[in-house]
Amino acid sequence: MSVREPGPVAGGLDVGRSAADRVDGAADASRWATVADQVLAGREVTREEALAMLRVPDDEVLALLYAAFRIRRHYYGRKVKLNMIINAKSGLCPEDCAYCSQSVVSEAPIDRYPLVSRETLLAGAREAQARKAGTYCIVMSGRRPSNREVEEVAAAVEEIRRTTDLKVCCCLGLLTPEQADRLAQAGVHRYNHNLNTSRERYADICTTHGYDDRVQTVTLSKAAGMSPCSGAIFGMGETDEERVDIAFALKALDADSIPCNFLNPIDGTPLQGRRELTPYTCLRILAMMRFVNPAKEIRIAGGREVNLRSLQPLGLYAANSLFVGDYLTTPGQAPEADWQMIEDMGFEIEVCALDPMPAR
Ligand code: SF4
Repeated sequence: MSVREPGPVAGGLDVGRSAADRVDGAADASRWATVADQVLAGREVTREEALAMLRVPDDEVLALLYAAFRIRRHYYGRKVKLNMIINAKSGLCPEDCAYCSQSVVSEAPIDRYPLVSRETLLAGAREAQARKAGTYCIVMSGRRPSNREVEEVAAAVEEIRRTTDLKVCCCLGLLTPEQADRLAQAGVHRYNHNLNTSRERYADICTTHGYDDRVQTVTLSKAAGMSPCSGAIFGMGETDEERVDIAFALKALDADSIPCNFLNPIDGTPLQGRRELTPYTCLRILAMMRFVNPAKEIRIAGGREVNLRSLQPLGLYAANSLFVGDYLTTPGQAPEADWQMIEDMGFEIEVCALDPMPAR
């Protein structure tokens, strides 16, 4: 009864209590409930509190998750946003991101093709609608797009905006200010560029571009008028402290949308075989991300099925957004399974509330 849980005392929250101090589950629940109350009243959680969330014992994860849910419910009710990805250009990338099957250093047996046609992009938009997605994410491999590629994507987006009620997100790599302006002018709502990991860890997963290149692109897309989307991939060797760094870096970036990927260690990539995450670890990360970024769209992204496994539904207590269908080069679960999961949880798919086209 005298064993102590690891972790410092922080921000009025005793994160280093002895087991004897924890009277029962109700005490655990009230601890995180108090922090949730404070967040809902406008207080920001501290780094020490965020770290404590990543280190809660398994018995306390549900209490933490329920506290995160109260914050999620305040901002998003029981709605779930669905997003669909099209891999608009696959492989052929000169960068060396260690997690990526499309990298020049990857030997994964994936399809490799240049930018797909406008007709294919439009067909993808129709498929996104059929899957009940509100946002259609056009993703290209590569360090940065050429001006011709930006123009082709922009022309397709203009048509998608004219003919559907989808929001469009683009993820095309590093951008110039002119390219960002062109995409915003075409009606792209959102631009995704993930930080992926912490500043300190970045060189371990990529050497051909840097963390600051990514920060700059997120900043630039926001300046052009697009909503910034930036997230991370967890399970690449980062420490709990670095996971907290990531959450606070995304907060500092003021990313509107935060995809939380959990590494799917694809055979043929430098990270093949790396399995560091348990379903409970994923839930702790999602809850921590909600506490640090209470009002943001938090998405359970790639690797959901293989890392959360049977606990996938519980992730929705912290997150309010999912990808529906396949990922870039790996399969997701069937859309029908996601719709059923959402219904079974008592949540509902959010109908896209379309913004007007940006002024031309
Ligand atoms: S993540 Fe993007 S930039 Fe990095 S290797 Fe993959 S496609 Fe290239």
